[in-house]
Amino acid sequence: MAKGGTRNPMPKLPPEIRIRSFEEVALGFNEEQAIDEAERCLGCKNKPCVYGCPVNIDIPEFIRLIREANPVAAARVIKKTNALPAICGRVCPQKEQCEKVCVLAKKSEAVAIGALERFAADQEAKHSNPAEPPKPENPELCKYCVAVVGSGPAGLTAASDLARTGYSVTIFEALHKTGGVLRYGIPEFRLPRHILDREVDYVRSLGVKILTDVVIGKAVGVKDLLNEGFEAVFIGTGAGTPKFLGIPGENLSGIYSGNEWLTRINLMRAHEIDYATPIKVPKRACVIGAGNTAMDCARTALRLGAKEVTIVYRRSRAEMPARAEEIENAEEEGVRFQLLTNPKRFLGNERGAVEAIECSRMELGEADESGRRRPIPVPNSEFRIECDTVIVALGQNPNPLIRMTTPELDTEPWGGIIVDPRTGMTSIPGVFAGGDVVTGEATVIAAMGAGKIAAAGIDSYIRQKHNLII
Ligand code: FAD
Ligand code: SF4
Repeated sequence: MAKGGTRNPMPKLPPEIRIRSFEEVALGFNEEQAIDEAERCLGCKNKPCVYGCPVNIDIPEFIRLIREANPVAAARVIKKTNALPAICGRVCPQKEQCEKVCVLAKKSEAVAIGALERFAADQEAKHSNPAEPPKPENPELCKYCVAVVGSGPAGLTAASDLARTGYSVTIFEALHKTGGVLRYGIPEFRLPRHILDREVDYVRSLGVKILTDVVIGKAVGVKDLLNEGFEAVFIGTGAGTPKFLGIPGENLSGIYSGNEWLTRINLMRAHEIDYATPIKVPKRACVIGAGNTAMDCARTALRLGAKEVTIVYRRSRAEMPARAEEIENAEEEGVRFQLLTNPKRFLGNERGAVEAIECSRMELGEADESGRRRPIPVPNSEFRIECDTVIVALGQNPNPLIRMTTPELDTEPWGGIIVDPRTGMTSIPGVFAGGDVVTGEATVIAAMGAGKIAAAGIDSYIRQKHNLII
């Protein structure tokens, strides 16, 4: 392939096969496709893609190594700044980040940076398992302990950067499994569990200790961690409290939050016969919302055996916030889209179970503060959508536990923890935060970027506190 030529499409399982299982949909490039795609890269001197990546991976350099048929070295370049490359290669919204600023995107299509990142990471695992961890930069720092609360992408990134610098790091995770949304939210057909386990194991191999089933803010609070010998604490507890519509009938049975729906399936294995946590298979499911969570809920409902699944969204397709690739996948699998439609109330039967949604049609007005055109109801346009299951996927707010048990922590009225954006430090000296708990629900890579900023902030905080010159 010539420099700048046509982009290689991601090979995928055909829709009729994928909707019958939780197998990964995107299959990844083979070596020939990866080298061909890598040859499209122009190797721009000013590297715009690197600045489009929140963790500043040296993209042209890792692509060059793939072109030279050395994917293991490519993966090592990525891992200098990103401990979770196989995850990011699969779930990052690249089209809005590194690929958006790729110079080829102006004329035709960007280099498939995400697909190449995934290729490098998977090849490294295949050829050198377990991946060799780098040595800590300053082993003398190991006498200083740092606590990380939450094992989502923000916590894993802060922990791995701190461990690589030399600190002794312990992650405290409330659930019985690691990964945060990467495990309980994003389904296996987008992110297989063995890939997540492999990258969490890599973080462990850097020396990070992970303790599961520990809820910080209950028996042990954030300030207790500081009093018990941790020099600093990073809070990466994410946003796990679902938002609801607040309309009549929302308590009917058969109505779930996106969070509950996905957790039941991804974490509690509700779709597997030998697990004691079953879920009712819908006949007609409606999913309210059009972000990544909504697409995941809709595609999961199809895989459970639902006959009909409809996304109900109050704006138009152009405003849908999900990754473009996932919207396309959902459409290919047969998910229907009822756009410019706003639910007004849920209607139930005599047993208290949902049987329909009363909706009104919408049209788009002027742009609102989010920059998207504001949906306005069309008068007298009410209609019903029949359904036996509704999944409300409108996003999440931060969990209130740490906020409520740590009154010195300054927070936004909606619950987000307030930090200094340059260091990630909160209103409590030595306590840092980052990821969805600060921004509200965002992206994996934004959470990782925040984890990196906080790790650097913690490093300089500890060095200043102890007058260290190493
Ligand atoms: P989380 O991933 O939420 O992790 C927080 C962790 O902290 C959890 O493990 C939680 O159990 C733990 N915790 C919480 N409270 C405590 C406590 N008190 N003590 C100890 N531990 C605690 N982003 C993308 O970029 N691409 C996608 O395709 C994508 N798809 C998504 C699909 C779904 C269904 C959802 C819900 C989100 C999706 N996102 C996606 C968003 C992305 O997953 C999040 O922005 C990201 O995971 C935030 O990372 P985090 O580390 O801040 O928090
Ligand atoms: Fe290659 Fe695109 Fe980055 Fe230029 S911007 S170096 S073409 S990936």
